[in-house]
Amino acid sequence: MRKSVVAIVGRPNVGKSTIFNRLAGERISIVEDTPGVTRDRIYTEAEWLNQPFNIIDTGGIEIGDAPFLVEIREQAELAIQEADVIVFMVNGREGITGADEEVAKILFRSNKPVVLAVNKVDNPEMRDQIYEFYSLGFGEPFPISGTHGLGLGDLLDAVVGHFPERAEMVEDEETIHFSLIGRPNVGKSSLVNALLNQDRVIVSDVAGTTRDAVDSTFTREDQDFVIIDTAGMRKRGKVYETTEKYSILRALKAIERSDVVLVLINAEEGIIEQDKKIAGYAHDAGKAIVIVVNKWDTVESDEKKMKEFTDEIRAHFLYLDYAPIVFLSAKTKKRIHTLLPAILTASENHAKRIQTNVLNDVIMDALAMNPAPTYKGQRLKVLYATQVAVKPPAFAVFVNDPELMHFSYVRFLENRIREAFGFTGTPIKIFPRRRS
Ligand code: GDP
Ligand code: GDP
Repeated sequence: MRKSVVAIVGRPNVGKSTIFNRLAGERISIVEDTPGVTRDRIYTEAEWLNQPFNIIDTGGIEIGDAPFLVEIREQAELAIQEADVIVFMVNGREGITGADEEVAKILFRSNKPVVLAVNKVDNPEMRDQIYEFYSLGFGEPFPISGTHGLGLGDLLDAVVGHFPERAEMVEDEETIHFSLIGRPNVGKSSLVNALLNQDRVIVSDVAGTTRDAVDSTFTREDQDFVIIDTAGMRKRGKVYETTEKYSILRALKAIERSDVVLVLINAEEGIIEQDKKIAGYAHDAGKAIVIVVNKWDTVESDEKKMKEFTDEIRAHFLYLDYAPIVFLSAKTKKRIHTLLPAILTASENHAKRIQTNVLNDVIMDALAMNPAPTYKGQRLKVLYATQVAVKPPAFAVFVNDPELMHFSYVRFLENRIREAFGFTGTPIKIFPRRRS
């Protein structure tokens, strides 16, 4: 199911990042007394009334040296584009300013629900000051205090009340959702076009309410696929779309909705630091991953070259050793037929369940072959294992003392499980649990 997205908008210094941090439940971005301080994180998960959602702090998208009003207008536009519900934040101590009215005008033209939050209402006596904010035209203003954590419950009740119906957000389980991530110009849009124009692909353009208008749906041999849009693919134009933070935000949003993430690398230019950062997001999110080396037409291609490139990728992306590598050209369509089978396999493995008895046969064989080591005179005892989750597959391993289960032994068990069940394309997780 897709999670709802909430964006916080408002002019600088009203307290957006303070609230963002509070809702995120941990201090993850920097708040200082100077406005416009750089924030390291602008997208995070939160939860209210058992409903998980994501929050964007639009104040964190800074647009070079754009004039003040251009910047806040762009931030409001971004909120309208990306969010299901917008929290419009103003400062209860300063009253309505011209900049607030600018933001209001933009939000008013959109048809997204807006909840008005009046921040810095630090004590009950100040509540009388909120009435002037009715004139902004967004109904009842919610008084809050970011510093003291007041009023957030009522605000969140209102926000959650505007979330789209759950039924609208359910995505078909059988359909494989995938996204393409990679730095600008790596060939994301070219590859989407190439996939949609392939033989035996039936492209449908039914714009369901559950889908972003820019997602592309197609069917191949009775399997439905949805390509989730990322920044590189939509038509460019808005100023904020050129900022790095925005492209990261789009990538995170797309990754989150994906079953499989294609990490694109440019064969012409090789691997750069940014590629690793981007791939790291997909890995951390526990998604199935296929590494795609695009622009393979620019390389004098032979087996040796492919081996060299594979070695280079493996050396740079140690943690992605489970991800298959596909070499292709979006431009000439060379080898493009190898991509969908790789996506399919990764997706199947991501959702795969192993029966407990079969799993334990493998674990017991592994133990016999390589008995658990002793640590401080104590020996690890592995009792049994069971799969506790899919997407990605996760295994609980019951042991006498989790402290005795070292990283290297977890790694050993993971390798055995992979050898036995072939989890190509998906990360798997192993959690030691105590059972005496
Ligand atoms: P942003 O630019 O909108 O993200 O604003 P910040 O979150 O960086 O906050 C700007 C300043 O207002 C900081 O000095 C905060 O400590 C302060 N601030 C935030 N929330 C409150 C509040 O509820 N009451 C008071 N008195 N100050 C606050
Ligand atoms: P995006 O920014 O990641 O969406 O990249 P684009 O799809 O816009 O492609 C960037 C540039 O790379 C364009 O000039 C494409 O024609 C070119 N390109 C894309 N795929 C290939 C490929 O497989 N081979 C070659 N030689 N060029 C490609």
